[in-house]
Amino acid sequence: MAKPVILAVDDDAAVLSAIERDLRQQYRADYRVMKAESGAEALDAAKELAARNRQVALFLVDQRMPGMSGLELLREAMRLHPASRRVLLTAYADTDVAIAGINDITLDHYLMKPWDPPEERLYPVLDDLLAEWRARVRPAFEGIRVLGSQWSPQSYSTKDFLSRNRVPYEWVDLDIDAPARSLAESLAGDLTRLPLVIFPDGTHLIAPTSGELAAKVGMHTQASQPFYDVIVIGGGPAGLATAVYAASEGLNAVLVESQAPGGQAGTSSLIENYLGFPSGVTGEDLAQRATAQARKFGAELITGHEVVGLRREDPYRTVVLSDGTELNAYCVVITTGMSARTLDIPGIAPLQGVGVYYGAAMTEGARYRDKDICIVGGANSAGQGALFFSRYAKRVTILVRRELKATMSQYLIERIRSAPNIDVITGVEIDRVNGNGSLESVVVKEKTTGEVRTIPASAMFIFIGVQPHADCFDGTLERDEAGFVITGSDLPMEHGKPRGWTLERMPFMFETSVPGVFAAGDVRSGSNHRVAAAVGEGSATIHSVHRYLQTV
Ligand SMILES: Cc1cc2nc3c(=O)[nH]c(=O)nc-3n(C[C@H](O)[C@H](O)[C@H](O)COP(=O)(O)OP(=O)(O)OC[C@H]3O[C@@H](n4cnc5c(N)ncnc54)[C@H](O)[C@@H]3O)c2cc1C
Repeated sequence: MAKPVILAVDDDAAVLSAIERDLRQQYRADYRVMKAESGAEALDAAKELAARNRQVALFLVDQRMPGMSGLELLREAMRLHPASRRVLLTAYADTDVAIAGINDITLDHYLMKPWDPPEERLYPVLDDLLAEWRARVRPAFEGIRVLGSQWSPQSYSTKDFLSRNRVPYEWVDLDIDAPARSLAESLAGDLTRLPLVIFPDGTHLIAPTSGELAAKVGMHTQASQPFYDVIVIGGGPAGLATAVYAASEGLNAVLVESQAPGGQAGTSSLIENYLGFPSGVTGEDLAQRATAQARKFGAELITGHEVVGLRREDPYRTVVLSDGTELNAYCVVITTGMSARTLDIPGIAPLQGVGVYYGAAMTEGARYRDKDICIVGGANSAGQGALFFSRYAKRVTILVRRELKATMSQYLIERIRSAPNIDVITGVEIDRVNGNGSLESVVVKEKTTGEVRTIPASAMFIFIGVQPHADCFDGTLERDEAGFVITGSDLPMEHGKPRGWTLERMPFMFETSVPGVFAAGDVRSGSNHRVAAAVGEGSATIHSVHRYLQTV
């Protein structure tokens, strides 16, 4: 734990050395004593300390300094360190100024120079002030701080990325924390781009991308080898299972994940139908266990990079990452899954991430404690989301086009029925959303009568179907009408062979229209969109990979 700071400031070098000596003698065990020879130097130090989230317990400042007086310095420094105790060093002639400072900047004390002997004239005063400071402040958080607005979508994405990758951070809301706002303005200028992410070493990033964040927090972001047996694209259940089976069977495997290991499953509050977990398992727990298992067997995991392209240069397959890096291998397994389909209605775009969310944004649960929220959709994921948010929200209203029993598992329907704070409104479509900077209400239209109804809501979580993450393979791989990647015996045939297929043999199980490139899990056309199925397909793909490797 870093020691709090006592900052002494005086433009007279001899006096400054004397103060420093006396302060160190008494306080060095519990405080770091720092010194500055001018107001400007002290202010820079105060800024640097604030950026590192180091606490300044006490400023001991000479009043008469060229450029910036002691009181002027304290006034500025208080914006960054409002809890610090403030003591002015004065000559007799400055007494009036010091007394004015007591009112003006709530100066705690003024000391006449010289202060000898310190045991009588310095330490008793400072001991009291420091004891008072210690009693009032709580220790500063020493990790990563995310300074943003809860109404900024990018702030939400950054928090989501860090929490899904289990990187501890402290959230600082600039809308309510004035000192943090001063710090953010001094580091980033205007606050049009948020969040500001400040690291323990005092450095910062403004509105960082996932790749920048991943690299900065020390995640593995670069491939360690020029060539692999197999590259796995996507770290959901299918990709993690592929990596575990590839590495455990001696293949040299690398997995590239754009966001966080776990995929959609990683966002599930409780998976109850996965074999071997009778009480259910959280998506986060499952993802963490699978990640540890893949690493244990020697698979390499790269996080924070999106795959944007795939090339065939026989016998090699080249995967292109968003930063332009290329990875090469004999085989590629695509496990990029899918994500929620978005809702295109008036008013929604500016509210995304600030009241409107796709999927179960679990990090936001506590924010909507005692508030009214809506869930849109009638599938199992919507049911799970409603149950999860009902732990926090005052009232959860599920808005769905059809009867729940048409789309949701019976066990979830029963739990929803017995939850006292969940309502279900069926037969409605979302017409528009209202809100200025945050969601205020959701307007729904009855499908049969056209009647319009406004439901007050602070948040709306949308679960309305999916789209595959496979656009970057367009033109390279055969895809179905909805964009899912077609594999094996489902590939469209021409003259007794898959269209464009150049080999004598037929495609292996899970092999796409390009030999040596496989697809498994939710991104694959015809898969059944369940965790167990994704894990099974990912594991089984490695059997086909082995068969393929025997041919190259
Ligand atoms: C909220 C929720 C709850 C669910 N609950 C259950 C449940 O209880 N039981 C159940 O059986 N199923 C459940 N499901 C479904 C289940 O999670 C999915 O079927 C499963 O996660 C699919 O796994 P996957 O690996 O194929 O794809 P995904 O889980 O979608 O993972 C794909 C991964 O690939 C990454 N990726 C995508 N594109 C790229 C790219 N270009 N470059 C690099 N990486 C990329 C993504 O970031 C993602 O991490 C739930 C889904 C959701 C959303």
